Amino acid sequence: MKQIQMVDLRNQYLKIKDEIDGSIQEVIDSCKFINGPAVHEFSKDMERYLGVRHVIPCGNGTDALMVSMMALGLKPGDEVITASFTFIATAEVIAVLGLKPVLVDVDPNTFNLDPDAIRKAITHKTKAIVPVHLFGQCADMEAIMDIAKENDLFVIEDACQAMGADFTFSNGSSKKAGTIGHIGCTSFFPSKNLGCFGDGGAIFTNDDRYAENMRAIVNHGMKKRYHHDMIGVNSRLDTIQAAVLKVKLPHLDEYAKERNRAASYYDSALSSCEKINTPARFKASTHVFHQYTLKTYDLDRDQLQEHLRGKNIPAMIYYPVPLHLQKAYKDDRYAEGDLPVTEDLAKRVISLPMSTELDDQQLEYITGAVLEFANA
Ligand SMILES: *Cc1c(COP(=O)(O)O)cnc(C)c1O
Repeated sequence: MKQIQMVDLRNQYLKIKDEIDGSIQEVIDSCKFINGPAVHEFSKDMERYLGVRHVIPCGNGTDALMVSMMALGLKPGDEVITASFTFIATAEVIAVLGLKPVLVDVDPNTFNLDPDAIRKAITHKTKAIVPVHLFGQCADMEAIMDIAKENDLFVIEDACQAMGADFTFSNGSSKKAGTIGHIGCTSFFPSKNLGCFGDGGAIFTNDDRYAENMRAIVNHGMKKRYHHDMIGVNSRLDTIQAAVLKVKLPHLDEYAKERNRAASYYDSALSSCEKINTPARFKASTHVFHQYTLKTYDLDRDQLQEHLRGKNIPAMIYYPVPLHLQKAYKDDRYAEGDLPVTEDLAKRVISLPMSTELDDQQLEYITGAVLEFANA
């Protein structure tokens, strides 16, 4: 059996090695390392794939979130509502810009922002909502867009874990994750569903004005060379990374299929086990399974992780500490017990290996090891 990894990037690469190597070599031969032709080509390909007017490539997903908030003109003290159950980057950029992160609870089944919790958190200082499409499934964007409209708020989607997911509205129309809010953000970190070979990110919008400003912000606030109309940053997608992404983008839907194949295997092997809840599907969204995350009951989750590790099966806890209880973010607005769903999830969840490369032999071995522990 092939060794099991949390994410098997190597075997995914080997399947398209010649094409990737050729694309990287082209960049090296041209020596156009910054803003070379592949960056523009990839962003055009991505615009077509997503059905969005503008894709602005940038340095990473964290910058994508930060640049979005800069372009919307959010000011220190403005409140931004997001989930406490997410990766730190989401709240980090809010804090870095001097805005106030308002962390709220999530739905216990989908792990995504609870629309009622958003409503309760809105004040006269609230300016934006940042839904995170956690683990590969869209948050309830219909409810969130309605709340935003009623309260005149911006919506910035953190789609870092959900590239390729589709959200279907009650009127039957559907949109790609990251193209529903005013602005959407993604990361091309190697382990993301569409990953490059280093850091990378992108911002999506259908608004021409935001797009123009964000293109300037990622390049030192320049619209015209050496004329700085606004405060910017240096956040570009390397041409070499764009050359990798250009080759991988046409495979993204097939990657989602492979992830769903592994998820279905896990579902059918584990769903009858009473001590485990397999991931719930949200009917309005497809799932691209960035992570396959179980909820455990009446079993020691950390011991399960140890048990799996002893069998050379990596499993991860995303995320062990809710953001409102993190040392750097804890303040007198929050106490333990304030966000009961998030706090409960942090104790129950465990994510199994998930990638495009898991074969049935590996899946059988992993599920066998999980059941052995749960049924012991
Ligand atoms: C990965 C990730 C980010 C940050 O992306 P980087 O490219 O690592 O900066 C932000 N939010 C979520 C939910 C992520 O998973």
